[in-house]
Amino acid sequence: MTTNIKRIGVMTSGGDAPGMNACIRAVVRTAAFHQIECYGIMRGYQGMIENEIIKLESKDVANIIQRGGTILKTSRSEMFMTKEGRQIAADNLKNFGIDGLVVIGGDGSFRGAQVFYDEHKIPGIGIPGTIDKDLAGTDFTIGYDTAINTVVQAIDKIRDTADSHNRMFFVEVMGRDAGFIALSSGISVGAEAVLIPETKTYIDELIANIESGYKRKKLCHIIVVAEGDEEGGAVQIAEKVKAKFNHIETRVSVLGHMQRGGSPSCNDRLLASRLGHAAVDALIDGKLNYMVGIINDKIAFTPLAKANKQQPQINEELLRLVEVLSA
Ligand code: ADP
Repeated sequence: MTTNIKRIGVMTSGGDAPGMNACIRAVVRTAAFHQIECYGIMRGYQGMIENEIIKLESKDVANIIQRGGTILKTSRSEMFMTKEGRQIAADNLKNFGIDGLVVIGGDGSFRGAQVFYDEHKIPGIGIPGTIDKDLAGTDFTIGYDTAINTVVQAIDKIRDTADSHNRMFFVEVMGRDAGFIALSSGISVGAEAVLIPETKTYIDELIANIESGYKRKKLCHIIVVAEGDEEGGAVQIAEKVKAKFNHIETRVSVLGHMQRGGSPSCNDRLLASRLGHAAVDALIDGKLNYMVGIINDKIAFTPLAKANKQQPQINEELLRLVEVLSA
């Protein structure tokens, strides 16, 4: 089936992620290729309600592929959670003649798109843009690769100073529900331990590991902690551990929002370009209310209603790597 879509809206919503601009560019240029008009909706669903909608042409997305953040801005909208808010948003889109949406965001944004379709019949295609990589229906999300590279660069620097002073560092990385960032970056920086929400953290075991490291003359330790670990963030875990190591200086570093920023990596630009292109093609082909993702390096579609946060599914092989390689 092909649809008669003539005008589409593109927006970024929820948490921002590097590579969103590359994705906006791909959507706008693919639409232009098919002679479909494209409008940018500012600040996610909130801008849709406040009628902040601007025409986007190919030239408007020049020179943004390498930029972090999102030129369309993003937000979380309480008003869109209400029927009244969504009615205003739908009226605004109808005034512009927008008959399809590309929503770049996380599972919350996709839920919004589904409810919006159910009520107002304006279809949407979701594109996974989140640094957390915790969505079903895709192997990668836009922003994840850049975020882990940012973390690796930061921890490499921390290790230089940790090593110079023989210090123990607890480094907190993002990941409220998912340990993907912590585990991938932890292995890549040679962390002595990685603590993640998906697996139980035993403080006694951690202390024993560190002690055994010191006995083997390991003089600097890097412990990577995902912010959502059930024993607490890096500050809390450091408190629990350091009492046992009076002779060793301990420091905590919370990497925070730097993980969301920066110029997107090559992988994220490529992924964003592929998904943005596929999303517009899907709207044209009448494949409505799906999330477009990537599985085994092929474009894959998952109904928006099923593109939820993935059940914690951590790769056992990676967990084993931390244990074996940090010895
Ligand atoms: P993310 O898309 O990164 O998961 P959020 O969960 O904050 O981020 O969702 C972004 C926005 O999507 C919310 O601020 C809200 O406006 C909208 N949204 C989320 N869930 C729903 C829902 N069930 N119904 C309507 N809108 C929703």
